[in-house]
Amino acid sequence: MLTSNLIKELNKALPSENILSEIEERYVYSVDASNDPYTKSTLADAVVFVESIEQVQKVVSIANKQMTPIICRGAGTNTVGACVPTHGGIILNFSKMNKILEINSNNMTARVQPGVIVGDLQNEVEKLGLFYPPDPSNLKVSTIGGSIAQNSAGARCFKYGATKDYVLDMLVVTANGELIRTGSNTIKNATGYNLGSIFIGSEGTLGIVVEATIKLIPKPESTQVIMAYFNTVEDSVSTVNKIIEEQVFPTTLDFMDKNAIQTIEKFYPTGLLCDKEAALIIEIDGYQVSLPTLREKICDILRKNNAVNIQYSTNKIESDNIWRARRSSMASCTKVKPNVTTDDIIVPRSNLAKLVKGIQDICKRHNLTVCMVGHVGDGSVHPQIPIDYNDKNEYKHYKIAKSEIYQLTVKLGGTISGEHGIGLEKKAYIAKVVDGGALDYMRQIKKIFDPKNILNPYKIF
Ligand SMILES: Cc1cc2nc3c(=O)[nH]c(=O)nc-3n(C[C@H](O)[C@H](O)[C@H](O)COP(=O)(O)OP(=O)(O)OC[C@H]3O[C@@H](n4cnc5c(N)ncnc54)[C@H](O)[C@@H]3O)c2cc1C
Repeated sequence: MLTSNLIKELNKALPSENILSEIEERYVYSVDASNDPYTKSTLADAVVFVESIEQVQKVVSIANKQMTPIICRGAGTNTVGACVPTHGGIILNFSKMNKILEINSNNMTARVQPGVIVGDLQNEVEKLGLFYPPDPSNLKVSTIGGSIAQNSAGARCFKYGATKDYVLDMLVVTANGELIRTGSNTIKNATGYNLGSIFIGSEGTLGIVVEATIKLIPKPESTQVIMAYFNTVEDSVSTVNKIIEEQVFPTTLDFMDKNAIQTIEKFYPTGLLCDKEAALIIEIDGYQVSLPTLREKICDILRKNNAVNIQYSTNKIESDNIWRARRSSMASCTKVKPNVTTDDIIVPRSNLAKLVKGIQDICKRHNLTVCMVGHVGDGSVHPQIPIDYNDKNEYKHYKIAKSEIYQLTVKLGGTISGEHGIGLEKKAYIAKVVDGGALDYMRQIKKIFDPKNILNPYKIF
């Protein structure tokens, strides 16, 4: 009854072709890349494709009247259950608000709608010699709105930072339907509280981002990718620290372990060396003339630190090939078992080797295969575990292993999410890493921005 009222109200406010209410349609939009069937998710009551800020405000007004949750959705690729409903509600789908409204070469900014695909923005600004660095591995599908809400990062974070470092300003529709501007269209801004930073990484629980002004930088003239193989994980990870100690600052310092290399090569062959224990993918960028010097300096460090095979790209096709392999790691795991889980724990870099070895040991003890990749320059790894959720025993061991991995991460001075967020999947663990007083303040902030608890409720904590 309540649902039919909701659909009626939505149909009065928006074109009917923008509203989906059939059970199959609601099902499709009530899942995301977390895909754990045992999390407490429910079906959405309706899926709404919004096309303008005014339409977003109308939906918020209806949600307020009906006391119904609103769950924003970009591409649904987050891996933590951040956009699945827990108490029904409206899925607010941004795929039709996908316009790049302006690219200003002079100010080096782009004004975008939230549904713009990250990779599309990158391609468009690069045509003008500009650069938007954040690069979640699935940048061909994930959206700017989702990236802002999860503070996504990716391989280039090591040199260039995460999404939060590129958001200058946002238009946000609040829980009561008001439209607010969080910052200003300027490179710096010390005018009052940094309100935008509260919304970035808030997983759609505090406000709805309906437009963003993004900072751009000049596109580096040239890039090159170095691939180095090692016979031990320890050698590969300690080399990362050696490169940084030499004050060399590549664009990426990324990692794949033997299981990841073999699994990728099995399903998406690109010529990776499957007999090695670990590989580093090191991208460098800058002026063309400077790259050979930088590359040789890095290759010298690699040789001195037991790299057993070093290759580097000589053109864009070769570097794209290496990155295609790395970006296929999660997809290749899905071919091993029906499902795959991933994570994004992070530790201070000096403890990285202990984390990687520790995760491998934990998974071995629980008879789980782990394919590990990661942005190791940041201290961050993604243990990807192929799993069959129908196998209850395997699932039980996966849950215990996950908890042990978090305990290890905490022991090594790290935290449970570097870039994927908390969502539903990790909320049971947040109190292990966030101070109780700080959590209380977070809850109070949620109450201030969303007193009726209608914006993506019951996520994070
Ligand atoms: C194969 C794979 C590789 C990945 N690699 C990386 C990686 O390298 N680095 C990384 O950081 N992440 C990575 N991720 C995670 C994922 O890419 C990011 O979380 C992504 O940016 C989410 O974007 P999305 O458009 O899919 O958002 P969604 O999953 O649709 O939503 C994510 C969150 O944003 C909220 N949201 C969406 N739009 C809005 C809006 N307009 N206003 C307010 N809230 C909103 C949703 O409610 C939800 O809480 C990867 C995921 C996959 C599947």
